[in-house]
Amino acid sequence: MVFLAFKANKQYNFFMGKEIASKRRLGIMGGTFDPIHYGHLVAAEGARHAFNLEKVVFIPAGNPPHKPGYIVAEPSVRYKMTCLAIASNPFFCSSAMEVERPGPSYTVDTVRKMAHLYPEKRIYFITGADAILEIFSWKDSQILLTMCNFVATTRPGYCLKELNKRFDSMPKGVKQNISFMEVPALAISSTDIRQRVHEGKPIKYLLPEPVEDYILRNNLYR
Ligand code: ATP
Ligand code: MG
Repeated sequence: MVFLAFKANKQYNFFMGKEIASKRRLGIMGGTFDPIHYGHLVAAEGARHAFNLEKVVFIPAGNPPHKPGYIVAEPSVRYKMTCLAIASNPFFCSSAMEVERPGPSYTVDTVRKMAHLYPEKRIYFITGADAILEIFSWKDSQILLTMCNFVATTRPGYCLKELNKRFDSMPKGVKQNISFMEVPALAISSTDIRQRVHEGKPIKYLLPEPVEDYILRNNLYR
């Protein structure tokens, strides 16, 4: 099953097929989301608004090939936290396609699958500045860069000008599909949140309350 409904956002998954089918632009927010936090949500919402995206689909990675050994929470747990985090935004929905797919989670496979499911849509893949800088190490990156648009959002610690420069020398067909975009700077990372939980420090106001509750109730990241 590609779209796995989870309580809180069941309706969004249910509507996806119908609603998205009549619109032109579809956003994908990929990530490990271990756990999901306000940095992810602000970037996705900013891109949705700026690029007139009908929906943003949050797709937690099952087994990210670039993070061997770094993932702490199970894929199903990260997926649940993602669903909890996006439940209050009618423009956001989630997909368990990577979580349910065996083997490493490659973005190129996900974009290909989404393009197949929604052939009439232009796909906008949303990433933070750190992720876009690594894109050439991703599987089939040259193909991927021509398959969809990329929205690279700012992230504290990464300079927009520098980013632009790095991509200046790219062939036109590649560069024209990447847009850089300023979002409110939130110096939040999942790594820091995990560390804070581990040390008994507060994580309140760094991520949505239902996710915080879920982490504490299930003793994650202790
Ligand atoms: P970790 O510390 O475990 O790497 P993370 O906070 O970087 O976690 P990821 O799941 O790795 O979160 O990131 C998913 C996507 O969200 C990436 O494209 C990343 O660049 C982007 N992102 C993460 N945090 C922020 C933030 N604070 N501001 C803007 N973009 C962000
Ligand atoms: Mg990261």
